[in-house]
Amino acid sequence: MVGICEAMMTVKREIKKSWRPATTLVHAGQLRSQFKETAETIYMSSGYVYESAEEAEAAFDNSQPRFVYSRFGNPTVSMFEGRMAALEGAEAARATSSGMAAVFAALASLVKAGDRIVASDALFGSCQFILAEILPKWGVETVFVDGREIAQWQQALSKPTKAVFLESPSNPGLRLVDLKAVADLAHKAGATVVVDNVFATPLLQQPLTLGADVVVYSATKHIDGQGRCLGGVILGSEKYINETLQPFIRHTGPSLSPMNAWILLKGLETLDLRVTKQCDSALKIAQALKGHNKLADVSYPTLEGFAQAELARRQMSAGGTMLSLTLAGGKKEAFKFLNALELVLISNNLGDSKSLATHPATTTHQRLTPELKEIQGITPGLIRLSVGLEHPDDLIDDVLSALKAI
Ligand SMILES: *Cc1c(COP(=O)(O)O)cnc(C)c1O
Repeated sequence: MVGICEAMMTVKREIKKSWRPATTLVHAGQLRSQFKETAETIYMSSGYVYESAEEAEAAFDNSQPRFVYSRFGNPTVSMFEGRMAALEGAEAARATSSGMAAVFAALASLVKAGDRIVASDALFGSCQFILAEILPKWGVETVFVDGREIAQWQQALSKPTKAVFLESPSNPGLRLVDLKAVADLAHKAGATVVVDNVFATPLLQQPLTLGADVVVYSATKHIDGQGRCLGGVILGSEKYINETLQPFIRHTGPSLSPMNAWILLKGLETLDLRVTKQCDSALKIAQALKGHNKLADVSYPTLEGFAQAELARRQMSAGGTMLSLTLAGGKKEAFKFLNALELVLISNNLGDSKSLATHPATTTHQRLTPELKEIQGITPGLIRLSVGLEHPDDLIDDVLSALKAI
């Protein structure tokens, strides 16, 4: 796609390897047209024209790469892909219409009937559905392990395996997987390691550096970060993206719209500011709530006393924007708590500038069987809190007074 961009645009913003993420997020990937605009342009066009029939033929046989149809290539979408690849340190990226389209395309493009996938069992509800319901229907075997237990990975990966899929930290239980250790085991089994890095964000954890092969994001979450649109992105080697993934995306069409790509580009410009602030506030809230008598548990990856805090500090640069609370009084108290919040909104989204509280057992993870809920630690008292950009003291006041109201 880089070749296409260079052929089509007047100026492609050069990226310096020495740039810190905050700089990359503002400048990388921009394709400036002959009009020399400051902001990225929204190319709302489904197709492209050719000067001649010969030019069209050359575009289709790839002898002259260029944009031919927005299902598989569009300049605004390309800018978003370029910015994400530069941030992640990946050779290439493809954007999709949603996070789930990214997860599905990343896996479905890799496997065929008879293949085997090993996955951690603490997953976002729809990721779990793809692995447990859709892929097995097509003859792909999926094996789930407790992602925290390296011995379980070791055993499951003692057989040839096509792919490994995991989230770390997981949604909503904040369970971590030792990415480096699992990637080493997976590679010995011949597997491609796919990491859903939504909770860590591209700023706090770099799975490719830790040994993963493919990283996926729901860009709907922190990348937009302002609750405006859906999007997804898949990052990896040029070989994987161009040879394995691109044909799948080209012919199945989970494409990102240019308008949404532009919103996501603008979201990226403030990602570092937002995530830094949200992480600071999340830690402050976790510290303020720790030991509260109405709470059976407060989980936050870098909080003192968190079971996997050592691993969190080793593979993440901060604990993230999400925390989880367990009300001692189960569902009844969890609902009372949610209904007593005045500032924090009840919503199933996350990573937004507005703080959002979710009751996973009855919403995002409602579909899971009681056994699966237990395995994932989704108890009736569990509340997932996505920390926004409000003043942390206002958030602490709101949460404390909601706890008091129970
Ligand atoms: C939200 C989410 C997804 C799905 O993303 P959509 O953009 O909603 O399709 C996948 N994985 C994780 C961890 C998520 O939080």
